[in-house]
Amino acid sequence: MDNIYDTIIVGFGPAGFAAALYAGRFAMNTLVVGKEFGGYAAKAGTIHNYPGVKNADGYELSKTMKEQAEEFGAKFYDGEVLSIEKKDELFLVSTKDKKSFTAKTIILATGSERRKMGLPRESELENRGIHYCVTCDGPIYVGKDIAVVGGGNAGVSAALLASEYAKKVYLIVKGDSLTAEPISTEKIKIMRDKIEILYKTEIKEFLGADSLSGVVLNKDFNGSNKLKIDGLFVEIGSLPVNKLAKDIGVFLDDHGYARTDFSMKTNIAGAYVAGDLCNAFGSFKQNITAAASGAVAANSAYYYLRSLNK
Ligand SMILES: Cc1cc2nc3c(=O)[nH]c(=O)nc-3n(C[C@H](O)[C@H](O)[C@H](O)COP(=O)(O)OP(=O)(O)OC[C@H]3O[C@@H](n4cnc5c(N)ncnc54)[C@H](O)[C@@H]3O)c2cc1C
Repeated sequence: MDNIYDTIIVGFGPAGFAAALYAGRFAMNTLVVGKEFGGYAAKAGTIHNYPGVKNADGYELSKTMKEQAEEFGAKFYDGEVLSIEKKDELFLVSTKDKKSFTAKTIILATGSERRKMGLPRESELENRGIHYCVTCDGPIYVGKDIAVVGGGNAGVSAALLASEYAKKVYLIVKGDSLTAEPISTEKIKIMRDKIEILYKTEIKEFLGADSLSGVVLNKDFNGSNKLKIDGLFVEIGSLPVNKLAKDIGVFLDDHGYARTDFSMKTNIAGAYVAGDLCNAFGSFKQNITAAASGAVAANSAYYYLRSLNK
């Protein structure tokens, strides 16, 4: 049989990179397969809360994490994993470009993806005025009027970042208060001339033929229920990317996150999870929790292999 890895880690985010670093340091024969370099960490812009690195650029931080893991022997393969199958105690990993890899253990660090609003024409207008990442697409709207949906951490940080580009930012919030961290809500409140918060407000419809020109709101704002904007950023949370976990029968919680305990193991022998995919930290999902859980997952995989004497 071809090379059998001690572990295959799926995901190029902080959870996957930290797992790779630790697995490498345990001298495990390690392959990391990932689709998008850096995951959300690479798209987050400046990261202010990763200990030991002040004002880290998310992309640069991801590059360093990868290099560190490479230095300890982890191998990387760019590709989308389409399926994982457990057969005769081994995990068979198949990618979209028809490669297959085999490992004794698997660490799933596939993260989460942005929640959509679920309104008619949302997909049709995606990237034609509707976006899901201010860091990625905010610079398109220099000097324009835009709206951000969401009053949580994601919405408030997006509005703050968007205000660096846009002329005016409307923050559309369903409830009657912001639920983001106080440090962000305080910042947003002192930017009243640039960021206007519309509480108890929901979008009912998108306007514009080929691209977004505005939205219809559930109530009047400045005398009309139509708000004219050039762009809209939807920042209303995330859903776990759990297809591969489901494939191998990993138990999920009621919200679709992979069930695990403090050791990051799952109900499937040899299968571990880390990062935003898992339910270990509740809704507190950060680079530091992702990296920490990746390290723990690799540690658990290592001791599992040792217990089998493999
Ligand atoms: C806009 C934004 C700003 C943020 N800012 C901060 C911040 O300032 N500080 C902070 O601590 N946290 C921040 N976060 C949260 C933080 O980015 C995440 O908690 C962290 O990225 C989770 O890491 P992860 O490795 O679990 O998942 P991700 O970073 O989502 O990475 C998942 C990886 O899995 C890959 N993948 C998924 N499916 C497959 C597949 N089938 N095959 C191959 N690869 C696959 C993806 O391509 C990706 O590489 C922010 C998040 C967002 C969205």
